[in-house]
Amino acid sequence: MTSNNIDKLKEIIKKSNNIVFFGGAGVSTASGIPDFRSATGLYNEKNNKGYSPEYMLSHEFFSEHPREFMDYVRNNLIYEEAKPNKCHLALKKLEDMGKLKGIVTQNIDSLHQLAGSKNVVEIHGNLRDYHCVNCGKYLSFEDMKERDFSIKCPNCGGVLRPDVVLYGEALDLENINNAINLIENAEILIVGGSSLMVYPAAGFIDYFRGDTLVLINKTKTSYDSRADFVFYEDIGNTMSQLANI
Ligand SMILES: [Zn+2]
Repeated sequence: MTSNNIDKLKEIIKKSNNIVFFGGAGVSTASGIPDFRSATGLYNEKNNKGYSPEYMLSHEFFSEHPREFMDYVRNNLIYEEAKPNKCHLALKKLEDMGKLKGIVTQNIDSLHQLAGSKNVVEIHGNLRDYHCVNCGKYLSFEDMKERDFSIKCPNCGGVLRPDVVLYGEALDLENINNAINLIENAEILIVGGSSLMVYPAAGFIDYFRGDTLVLINKTKTSYDSRADFVFYEDIGNTMSQLANI
């Protein structure tokens, strides 16, 4: 039976020290970062030269137009002023309490780390780290900023790119393994801000073998009937309540 009784879930959380959180774009939207896959996201921006964000963020576009690709990333994906919201802070609190084992996120904005969370698996990579596709030289976001986002490697002249997984690219194997390891050993899995429509999100949830599956999303997902708790609520408000124990 699926429940939406938050007090009942809080009692379960009180007794657990093995909670894992799986987060989608909805976790970041309250920090002012749009979901580029949703209708209200970047798809409607006028600066795509008529291309979809999926194409602008594809391996093909990056390979053929690395300068335009980096401009697109800089103008549309980087939100330097964004601050962690109530959801990020609640998860940091649960980790400090020894209850949360880790976070698996589809987001690339590093807001969990900014909130102070330690064990974060970024399955789509992040925008903090950059490297040269030719020699592998590492540059930080600060390095890139200092060089005005030049895509020319200071070491060998090769092309620089962010460590994000582009459309048409495989996920990092170490990240996949870390994510699966967390999820399949978790007692409670909380899935938040994800419609679970986008590959490979749903695939990760299938590894969960624990007792309590919790979904927090503003709209229905195809996993609702399998969940023990479903909340069609704001992710920040709900997570704040769950961490207030
Ligand atoms: Zn290089």
